[in-house]
Amino acid sequence: MSIDWNTAFAPRMRQAKGSAIRELLKLLDEPGIISFAGGIPDPALFPRAEIAKAAQRILGDPALAAIALQYAPSEGYGPLRRFIAGEMTERGVACGTDNILITSGSQQALDFIGRLFLAPGDAVLVVRPTYLGALQAFSAHQPTYELLPAPGSNRTAESCGTGGRRAKFAYVIADFQNPTGESLSLGERHDLVARAAALGLPLVEDAAYDRLRYDGEALPSLAALECTRAGGIDSGAVLSCGTFSKTIAPALRIGWIAAPRPVIEKLVLIKQASDLHISTLDQMVLHEVAAAIGPDHLPRIRGTYRARRDAMLGALAAFFPAAARWTRPEGGMFIWATLPAQLDAEALLRRSLGEAQVAFVPGATFHADGSGRNTLRLNFSLNPEAVAIEGIRRLGGVLHRALAA
Ligand code: PMP
Repeated sequence: MSIDWNTAFAPRMRQAKGSAIRELLKLLDEPGIISFAGGIPDPALFPRAEIAKAAQRILGDPALAAIALQYAPSEGYGPLRRFIAGEMTERGVACGTDNILITSGSQQALDFIGRLFLAPGDAVLVVRPTYLGALQAFSAHQPTYELLPAPGSNRTAESCGTGGRRAKFAYVIADFQNPTGESLSLGERHDLVARAAALGLPLVEDAAYDRLRYDGEALPSLAALECTRAGGIDSGAVLSCGTFSKTIAPALRIGWIAAPRPVIEKLVLIKQASDLHISTLDQMVLHEVAAAIGPDHLPRIRGTYRARRDAMLGALAAFFPAAARWTRPEGGMFIWATLPAQLDAEALLRRSLGEAQVAFVPGATFHADGSGRNTLRLNFSLNPEAVAIEGIRRLGGVLHRALAA
């Protein structure tokens, strides 16, 4: 008898669909395509020599190799946790090693937070549009999504959610949001932290891009403001998700959660059940590299991406239709464009791939409710300036033809 897989799967997985991001990343391999689709760093900026040197040193030393290749605690490699706690403390989030859990990229942090907090019908407060990977991680637990209440709103955590459930946390990217590239102002940050505290809601801060600021004044993270408000990370209600993917190398898959100790203690149990721990070799290599890359590494990344952002902004002004609008991000990897309402970005993507060999991500992908059909996300970190300008020139041509039709 053949199995009806759909009824064999748990109800929560029946509606799960393949990630549009994964499908789109496949486009990067097609020869001749200029892709603005991925959200990926330029591999030329990976500290390859430092990674090779660190791996060789660790594996060449029998005592270090024994640690690197052995089973290890689920919390993560102690010296790396201490290093991250030190960096967080320097950035206004005073915390100790016990406040840090190492995760497989910050994506696993989002997955674990979903597992820890969400039951079907619970609400997650988000902005629209927001990071698709977070929506996917949370959606496994069948929450509802509500927009963050506007300042002055009299909504309560209990009035969100369905079937007697309530809002469990707000998910926010304060710096250089994926997909829009926009950041919260200082006033908005203060307001959000105060409102979350008034609602009794934990704040999940996704700080994936916070080190990639190219201009403008650095602003305190939500985690830093919450630590000040509450008098420390343990008495506050913020979970900060960080990653080395954007500044060192994503394939090492090393991220972290900084959170109050009772939260970390539960997350460690989830980590243990999930995959025991992150490769200690990778954690040791990352730790050595992060400590060794020196003061020039981040400025080099920032300088490269700043020039690419500026080239793309210039090309947008030159080649996109006058009726289009786009964000001017101070950091991160993305520009978000809004097209005249009659244009559908998904249809445009098909046309752009066929006519211009240019890829981007249609914006509806990032809206929990499927709206935003006339929007699109453009990545600017991967392509050198000349390639980006050529890609925007070709895409602009597609847009002009679509508007003329
Ligand atoms: N958060 C945001 C906002 C992201 O854009 C990404 C990667 N695209 C992640 C988290 C996950 O990254 P990683 O797992 O590599 O840390």
